Amino acid sequence: MNPYFKDFSEYMQEVFPGIKVQKLSIDAGFTCPNRDGSIGTGGCIYCNNASFTPGYCSPKDSVETQIFKGKEFFRRKYPEMKYLAYFQSYTNTFGKSVASLAKMYREAADSEDVVGIVIGTRPDCLPNELIDHLSDINEETPVIVEIGAETSFDDTLQLINRNHTWTDVEDAVRRLNSRGIRVGLHLIAGLPGENEESVLETVNKACKLPIESIKMHQLQIVKGTPLLSKFERGDIDVTPFTLEEYLDLSVRIVKIVPRHICIERFLASSPSDMVVAPKWGLKNYQFSNLLMNRLRQPI
Ligand code: SF4
Repeated sequence: MNPYFKDFSEYMQEVFPGIKVQKLSIDAGFTCPNRDGSIGTGGCIYCNNASFTPGYCSPKDSVETQIFKGKEFFRRKYPEMKYLAYFQSYTNTFGKSVASLAKMYREAADSEDVVGIVIGTRPDCLPNELIDHLSDINEETPVIVEIGAETSFDDTLQLINRNHTWTDVEDAVRRLNSRGIRVGLHLIAGLPGENEESVLETVNKACKLPIESIKMHQLQIVKGTPLLSKFERGDIDVTPFTLEEYLDLSVRIVKIVPRHICIERFLASSPSDMVVAPKWGLKNYQFSNLLMNRLRQPI
């Protein structure tokens, strides 16, 4: 057991005792209301979905086929593995009727070797009618909803063109939790105008909510994003963390997150040819090793 914080494998052992699980990304052809004008246009300034969609999934394939292909990808190495169907790309609760969304999640939940589903979305795309369906599925197959919260500061949310507020996050978390659905929050460290103290304040506020996990990552300046254009023009107050600074911040985060909340990860690792800054060239496990070394050092 990790003595410093609840990591993802410990969390998964709590939810799925005795089973080894792996997330399988599914691209079900969702779009984003913050791009198509439903909520906003242009998208969040840092977002380029191509930087976090794995190569083995394609919206041309059905959910079932994507799960099959994903399992083939992992099966050779880990024949005993069970899977979480992970609806990852864009906003996975938007742009389809509630009935067709529920049908699709059910199809994933009923697939062979799938033991749970994970749905990534925005806080303002979770109507109660959909939560009713998720609650039904959750009675048989655990459902985890991952909400992109990013920061608790509304002025930053506006600056990065998220087009939702922290109150939206709190409301969505509480509605999901009241129906017994597990919730994780995505948070970003290093957003424009923010410093280490802002990040810690956001983490503190997140930990007061009924969530089960946090996914932290450093802001990456990625090709093909408005953030890169603004950064190159000097139009935005962003100074990417050095690795040392981010390790120090991660240690401080570990110290304030209570043991009942899992810290699933600390690092975003978009393909290196897409990242302009910071260029640390680290995989998630390599960052974790550095962090664990840092945590073991006497204060
Ligand atoms: S981060 Fe999510 S909400 Fe923002 S533009 Fe990308 S897909 Fe849309």
